[in-house]
Amino acid sequence: MKFKDFKYERPDMNKFQNEFNGLVQRFSDAGSADEQLAIVKEINTMRNHMESLSQIVQIRHTIDTTDAFYDAENDFIDGAMPLYMEMVDKYYRALDTSKFKDALRKELGDHIFNIIEVKLKTFHPDIIEDLKQENMLASKYTKLRTSAKIMFDGKELNLAQMVPYYESKDRLVRKEAQEAATKFFEENEAAFDNLYQDLVEVRHKIARKLGFDNFVKLGYMRLSRTDYDDKMVAAYRKQVLDELVPLSLELRKRQEERLRVDTIKYYDEQIGFTTGNATPKGDSAWIVENGKIMYEELSAETGEFINFMLDSELMDLEAKKGKSGGGYCTYISDYRAPFIFSNFNGTSGDIDVLTHEAGHAFQCFQSRDYELPEYQFPTLEACEIHSMSMEFLTYPWMERFFKEDVTKYKFNHVSEALLFIPYGVLVDEFQHYVYANPEATPSDRKLKWRELEKKYQPYKNYEDNDFLERGGYWFRQGHIFSDPFYYIDYTLAQVCAFQFFLKSTEDRKEAWDRYLKLCNKGGSLPFTGLLKVAGLDSPFEQGSIKKVIPALRKVLDSIDDRNL
Ligand SMILES: [Zn+2]
Repeated sequence: MKFKDFKYERPDMNKFQNEFNGLVQRFSDAGSADEQLAIVKEINTMRNHMESLSQIVQIRHTIDTTDAFYDAENDFIDGAMPLYMEMVDKYYRALDTSKFKDALRKELGDHIFNIIEVKLKTFHPDIIEDLKQENMLASKYTKLRTSAKIMFDGKELNLAQMVPYYESKDRLVRKEAQEAATKFFEENEAAFDNLYQDLVEVRHKIARKLGFDNFVKLGYMRLSRTDYDDKMVAAYRKQVLDELVPLSLELRKRQEERLRVDTIKYYDEQIGFTTGNATPKGDSAWIVENGKIMYEELSAETGEFINFMLDSELMDLEAKKGKSGGGYCTYISDYRAPFIFSNFNGTSGDIDVLTHEAGHAFQCFQSRDYELPEYQFPTLEACEIHSMSMEFLTYPWMERFFKEDVTKYKFNHVSEALLFIPYGVLVDEFQHYVYANPEATPSDRKLKWRELEKKYQPYKNYEDNDFLERGGYWFRQGHIFSDPFYYIDYTLAQVCAFQFFLKSTEDRKEAWDRYLKLCNKGGSLPFTGLLKVAGLDSPFEQGSIKKVIPALRKVLDSIDDRNL
């Protein structure tokens, strides 16, 4: 079946609620573990259906935000989700207090009970209205961002369409493109500030109602982090500061030499070479065709996967008017179907979609036999291992896409990955500041952001851009608005992906086998448990970052980048 034939009908929430609560009641009254397990199965079916409807709406809404039907359905789902969460909360309480918990653990695994333990602390019926408000505000951010109409290069462009200009070989074009995009955020400064202020307030209020001092701990729990805390994260950020910030200075120096400029300015960061960045050597149809060959050659499992994605039309790749920015992968369990969303723009980022988002999609596909929604994918830092590692595991095929630019691509990919980690932890530290200091004002926040940039990105040079110099860059970082505390997950995963990369250069088969094992485990284990399955060092272990640097340095030093 093709995606366009996936059925959406607005759910009757009253009916759903009656049935769901009925099942939960039967669960509580059940006289045996077997009986309870049978009801869990029925509940899984109902939940998978509700979550599938919500995913279908999200996908269709983001593909065309001007479609009135799905715009309304998106609002409906935003409003309905807290009610649904309340139902799931009741169900979790029933599971948690089951007389047959030990027998259930044997069948369902321990991890679901770990998840329940933290989830129960994140919800109470008293916060439903606040959650609705939070969802609405987060959607408002997306709307505000997609409303950007930037006049540039004689065209009216959205933010996603501006990206290729940031990589222009012409320094003046890069500068003007960055200024034009920044202007949009500056013109809407009060709107972004107010929106974030409201988000911080409502999150703080929710946290207080649930008995927390502030939102920090709650933020971790919402992400189902059962095996690490903010202290471990702070120690990890320290490793990044000590090991990767000095390396990032070296990399920027090297970039300066390549670009033959005195100082890298903020608008130079995204171009690696005077001859331009590596670009794919064909249009989107050609990219997809080569992606198909790549995954068919990579393994039997990826071959089956890519053909399923193509046959069912589960990818919407090209940028178009009205489409939301960014890229994502999601999963529609009723159809056992992953979905990939992106905005192709002619840069190497298009190939990253075929590797990164496809890595996510491949994991969902491999985990499709898990009936428990909780096990269909793991916590987000583990999810990013699948995607970021796929970027490296597909290196042998990159020549197909980049031809003569392949060395450029690989150099930039490794270099950018290293440079990204300090930025990622900066976003994290910023959010720790914001939620630990809910009384801070918008201008306090901007000052803090700029201070942290100086700590983690000491090379940042905003030249004459007043708005960025005042600490306004983070308005662009959607995660800060919509997904608190999520961002660091990319960096944790990157450290793991480096390990897969280095393993694959030593022993490809072993690296692939471990990767497959990881994908097959889905979300049935917490982050650190999954790392053990895949034979990876935890980024939280002291020295784990230091350990990968020499080999990565060797990769970079084996390339004569000045002549690319
Ligand atoms: Zn991802």
